[in-house]
Amino acid sequence: MSDKPLTTTDHDRDSAALKYVYPVVSRRAGGVSVGINLNTNNACNWRCIYCQVPDLTRGTAPLIDLTVLEAELRGFLKELLHGDFMQSRVPDGVRRINDIALSGNGEPTSSTEFAQAIEIIARVRREVELPGTVKTVLITNGSLLHRSDVQHGLRNMAMLNGEVWFKLDRASVQGMQLINDTRTSMKKVRDNLIVSILLCPTWLQTCWFALDGEPPSHQDEDDYLEFISALLHDGHQPQGVLLYSLARPSLQPEAPRLTALSAEYLQAFADRIAKLGLPVKVSP
Ligand code: SF4
Repeated sequence: MSDKPLTTTDHDRDSAALKYVYPVVSRRAGGVSVGINLNTNNACNWRCIYCQVPDLTRGTAPLIDLTVLEAELRGFLKELLHGDFMQSRVPDGVRRINDIALSGNGEPTSSTEFAQAIEIIARVRREVELPGTVKTVLITNGSLLHRSDVQHGLRNMAMLNGEVWFKLDRASVQGMQLINDTRTSMKKVRDNLIVSILLCPTWLQTCWFALDGEPPSHQDEDDYLEFISALLHDGHQPQGVLLYSLARPSLQPEAPRLTALSAEYLQAFADRIAKLGLPVKVSP
């Protein structure tokens, strides 16, 4: 294991020299996030133009060695709880475990062993007596939530102080094609989001930035607000919206065309969302 201190900008998946488990000091959360990367092949079924995964390819997660995953998670959590990792590698002020996060180099729910990975998290959490305040977070593009195995995993996550961060960068077919490089219908996005909300507390995760110097259009804003408004009208209540701009540079060919938006710009849009009655957390 490297002795290099972790920083809030260090998201190196190899920082703990493990295959699936990697620590991240999260500036947003103010603590250590224990990341689990099921997509060791850097494959995702989407290709967001702001994606920070190196050498991203289209595809799904490879078969997971569940024995290795369980051993790594158990060993690393024990090290965090009882070893000197916090003292030697984590900056003062953020020496707490905030969450276990399924967030890796691709879409975690594309793993056929996703539900088994959640069972491993449950078992190891129990064994090492992880405080109930530590969240279990799934960062997902939500596109596979119609699958029963994924839903099974989400149901179990809810019992582990679970939280889903469901990606919604645009609320139109054209917008999603442009930003997420995926073809889908808004009905499918809405149906999957409703499933997520029903099974586990769900936040929308929205990344806004300027493309070729242009911020999202008024139409983009209106589409987004109308989508949320209709959802709330029908009684489906997400926890809120995590609204952020480019925290780290894109590693996609479009990278030179993207620029972050100012805190003021994001806040103005957040205020419009908040008027619908949803909490918004802004991270420029
Ligand atoms: S869904 Fe996530 S991993 Fe997949 S391309 Fe988009 S940002 Fe990258």
